[in-house]
Amino acid sequence: MRFLLSGVSAAFANGIRRACMSEVPILAIDDISLYDNTSVLFDEQISLRLGLVPLQAEDLDVFSRPEECQCKGEGCPGCRVDFMLSSEGPGMVYSKDIQFTDSSVKPAFDKIPIVILGEGEKLVIEGFATKRVGRDHSKWQAGTLCGYKNLASIEVAPDCDGCEKCIEICPRHVLSLEQNKAKATNILECSLCKLCIGECEAKAIKLESILDSFVYTIEGSGTMPVKDMVARSAIEIKNRASDLDAKLAELS
Ligand code: SF4
Ligand code: SF4
Ligand SMILES: [Zn+2]
Repeated sequence: MRFLLSGVSAAFANGIRRACMSEVPILAIDDISLYDNTSVLFDEQISLRLGLVPLQAEDLDVFSRPEECQCKGEGCPGCRVDFMLSSEGPGMVYSKDIQFTDSSVKPAFDKIPIVILGEGEKLVIEGFATKRVGRDHSKWQAGTLCGYKNLASIEVAPDCDGCEKCIEICPRHVLSLEQNKAKATNILECSLCKLCIGECEAKAIKLESILDSFVYTIEGSGTMPVKDMVARSAIEIKNRASDLDAKLAELS
């Protein structure tokens, strides 16, 4: 998802980016018991692959993080979702073969390959998923690619002669010709590379970055819609700020 956030400090903008990657809780496979694995992959490789399968839940809020659960992390239906995976070759084992006991939880994508089984080879696994955050381990990272840049401001002075050199050099197709003058018509794409300025002999281009406006590019692993993830990142920041407030109040 791409969006523009204006009227905030660089610290806040970075807070949203970091929270998307490390503070938004999601489900991921946490622990497994391998009863049978006669595939070509080692147990550890199977375990790693299962841990990286993104999981979707109809309502993530029904699950607690283990350390916040009433069971105090012992493990209960409130903080873990059990699954079973049983397959026999020949054929590919896919993410869709992971069967959760709670039907509201499933892999985000059906066709993530786990391992290919030859004739008679078997894979029998039980395990459970828990809800944690990217700060605990990257497999609980909701946002996989989270970045931003400052929004650009481009003004073209009246002495532009419409030579189009800036338009031709711009790698992001930000500029176009309108009424024989260059104009920024695709400003969100500008990377502030300044190639256009170097090309303009008339020195007609004024380029600045707007310090309190940020163009975000956020990609998720499929565990939830990116829009929800960004909203949750803001909630997590707010919760942490409240926690800090409470702790500071205790000290004073
Ligand atoms: S700064 Fe770079 S990306 Fe932006 S308009 Fe100029 S050439 Fe294009
Ligand atoms: S290079 Fe300069 S003069 Fe030529 S179109 Fe662009 S802004 Fe105008
Ligand atoms: Zn519990």
